[in-house]
Amino acid sequence: MSDKKKYDLAIIGAGPGGYVAAIKASQMGKSVALIEKNLLGGTCLNIGCIPTKTLIASASVLHQVKRAAEFGIQTGPISVAYNQMKARKDTVVTKLRKGLEGLLKANHITIYHGSAQFESPFELKIIGKDNLYVSAEKIIIATGSFPLDIKEFPCDHLRILNSTSILELTEIPKTLAIIGGGYIGCEFASLFSELGTQVTILEALPSILTAQGSSIAQFMTQSFASKGIDIRTNTVVKSIENKKDHTQITLADGKTIDAAFTLVAVGRKVYTEGLMLEKAGLKCTEKGFLSTDEYMETDVRGIFAIGDVTGHWMLAHVASHQGLIAASNASGVQIKMHYESVPAVVFTSPEIATVGMTLEQALSANISITQGSIPFQALGKAQASIDIEGFTQIIADKKTGQILGATVIGHEASNLIAEMALAIQNELTLESVLETIHAHPTLAESWHEAAALALNSPINFPPKKHQEI
Ligand code: FAD
Ligand code: NAD
Repeated sequence: MSDKKKYDLAIIGAGPGGYVAAIKASQMGKSVALIEKNLLGGTCLNIGCIPTKTLIASASVLHQVKRAAEFGIQTGPISVAYNQMKARKDTVVTKLRKGLEGLLKANHITIYHGSAQFESPFELKIIGKDNLYVSAEKIIIATGSFPLDIKEFPCDHLRILNSTSILELTEIPKTLAIIGGGYIGCEFASLFSELGTQVTILEALPSILTAQGSSIAQFMTQSFASKGIDIRTNTVVKSIENKKDHTQITLADGKTIDAAFTLVAVGRKVYTEGLMLEKAGLKCTEKGFLSTDEYMETDVRGIFAIGDVTGHWMLAHVASHQGLIAASNASGVQIKMHYESVPAVVFTSPEIATVGMTLEQALSANISITQGSIPFQALGKAQASIDIEGFTQIIADKKTGQILGATVIGHEASNLIAEMALAIQNELTLESVLETIHAHPTLAESWHEAAALALNSPINFPPKKHQEI
């Protein structure tokens, strides 16, 4: 291997962190090499956000068709062709990946296909379809993460699956056991339950969705139970066996559970192995992450890290925003990363979306707060479309009215949360939401009413008895 190329910036990994950073740096006049060992678009586009949400979109059509009679529409027998659902998912992913390839070319980014490793702080060796050395003045590490495998029960990808191999199923499982009740466990539980699978979630902690806070966890536990999802918390799995026509799970207490397939969704591990970080003078934290300062720069000046590999949030939009920040700093314009207004969405049915502080966090920070919470049942639009499960909640500083956090569980929660992310990012108050005219009838007008309730001046809702919390 003798070929050597030089760039202003080299980026390792073309997921939503890496490719966004590449486009930004190129737009700032830098020559950019983007190195990817697998598929452009990374986890998010190929085996994460997009394929899962495409399948979930099909399931939500099924949900609507099943209740057509409630809307006064008669249908014939309903059947699901899962192979067509899967084919649609694959088509959407391929189409978006082609679009991304075109976008990168249009931005004059050089793409190398291969695995990158450090030779020295500013030189990379690329091995794969392309084989060469790339040196650069600045480097961004955007290598992402992969599903965590548990030593005692490794995935065989035949019946014991992870979030990647479950996407390759060609038929709907009759029964599915899911180890882990976090983001991935709950999204797949909701998806397959809608498709008719009998789902059991086995969660080691006392509740599912711990990261979302106890009120969301309680709400979703009840919602899932009402849909027939069997949730077993405080449950420790000892082993899983592939019995050829089903899987058998043995719990720590010796009891067994049979399921056609088992999905292991117990978190993700970051990709640093094989990068030869030591040759760049870099070290991972105890948890294996690459730590950075607020400019996304590592301990080695000129080397940046973004996305899942930094262990911050592990969300696609966080990776992309970190990518913009790192690219800008690497191109000589200093900006800091901030995390106060990161929206987080779990795409279950109903959807869950949060931004800023939860009620528990605000209370434990001893902030005197006021809050307004509106059930979807009270909204005209929710009644019209029979999407009455859920609520919106705003939490604000009682003295200043500044919005500190918001939660929404319900239809279109993923879109509704954007207004509150904008409000928190711009330090807006309850009054500013109240002063904003919201279209009627919409689900978004629940923010207006929640703000009014937090100020104890609701129009369409009885005033609160106790505003103090
Ligand atoms: P990645 O997307 O993982 O990309 C990293 C890339 O680097 C990969 O393509 C990898 O092949 C490449 N790479 C690694 N090492 C090397 C090397 N040495 N040389 C060259 N290339 C290398 N997030 C959301 O915000 N919303 C969602 O709805 C959502 N749904 C998800 C569903 C699932 C099932 C999963 C698994 C994840 C989901 N996520 C979601 C999380 C999201 O996918 C990640 O947070 C996001 O992809 C992280 O982006 P990244 O750029 O840091 O890494
Ligand atoms: P997670 O951290 O969200 O949840 C893992 C769950 O598994 C936790 O509740 C944990 O207590 C449980 N667990 C761990 N070990 C266990 C064991 N041995 N037995 C039983 N339960 C066990 O992780 P995930 O669901 O794998 O998702 C990984 C990450 O991917 C998420 O944290 C998120 O950042 C990202 N993601 C985001 C989205 C989204 O934005 N909609 C969707 C999917 C994934």
